Amino acid sequence: MHELSLSESITELVVECARREGVERVSKVVIALGEAAAVDAESLRFCFPITAADTIAAGAELVIDRIALKASCEACHAEYAPPTLIAPCPVCGSHARKIIEGREMRVVSFSGCG
Ligand SMILES: [Zn+2]
Repeated sequence: MHELSLSESITELVVECARREGVERVSKVVIALGEAAAVDAESLRFCFPITAADTIAAGAELVIDRIALKASCEACHAEYAPPTLIAPCPVCGSHARKIIEGREMRVVSFSGCG
């Protein structure tokens, strides 16, 4: 379950940033999670309170923004939102494309008080 180590990274990043900004307690963390990021949102929701426990982010709410897939066709350069990872270009039918969005996971913001 790599969500646990991802959750640890999220917690570490947020705690470090919060400290730097003088925040004493983090109440909410917002992350962006691509639909093709190979990360299970429910597992992440389950792991976060565990990795956040005993840190200043303990009890913080985890908000997960799902990022839809976006692809760029290498044949006709159209940008489109493929319904699945293997869907062809809707303009020219080509399967040659790059996924340009939807695989990332990043911390967007956090809020707290202090
Ligand atoms: Zn195309």
